[in-house]
Amino acid sequence: MRPALFGAITALILITTLVMFWISRRKKKEKLEKALMANRLMNRPSFPYLLRKCDPKGCGHFGASRGSGKHKGLDIKLAKGQEVFSPIDGIVKRLAFPYGDDYSWKGVLLLGTGHFKGVSVKIFYLEPSVSKGQTIRKGDPIGKAQDIGERYPGATPHIHLELRLAGILVDPEPYFG
Ligand SMILES: [Zn+2]
Repeated sequence: MRPALFGAITALILITTLVMFWISRRKKKEKLEKALMANRLMNRPSFPYLLRKCDPKGCGHFGASRGSGKHKGLDIKLAKGQEVFSPIDGIVKRLAFPYGDDYSWKGVLLLGTGHFKGVSVKIFYLEPSVSKGQTIRKGDPIGKAQDIGERYPGATPHIHLELRLAGILVDPEPYFG
């Protein structure tokens, strides 16, 4: 076989594989969207459940402007020390740290199980009360809120919540019960 032809076939196979992967991931995401609509995220990952509106440091909704980028999660207003509850059944994949320069800011990465398989939730600005590998149920306490206003004066105290379905980032707001 001529090298040019071989290269073209290889490229074609690679592109087809990538497209198939992309399509299957979108399909999985659609299935998960339906499943989450039927069996929703805990209606209050925190009490009271209030979204962060706009303050001098930014707005709390998904997709809000963040300098050159976009806000990847949803900000839920919470005072320091308030209990945070797991929105899903799952396991604690790992503890998470939003800032490489200051590990006092913490969070968790939760992977869904059962009805929530394929769902992942990342929450920042909480002092975790759970540890890596721990099994959690929807509604279990997972930690206490930190006050990000201590790092960014003027920012409303909140926790930051990111939702991924089959690895695809989505707006969490429609999925709360
Ligand atoms: Zn946020």
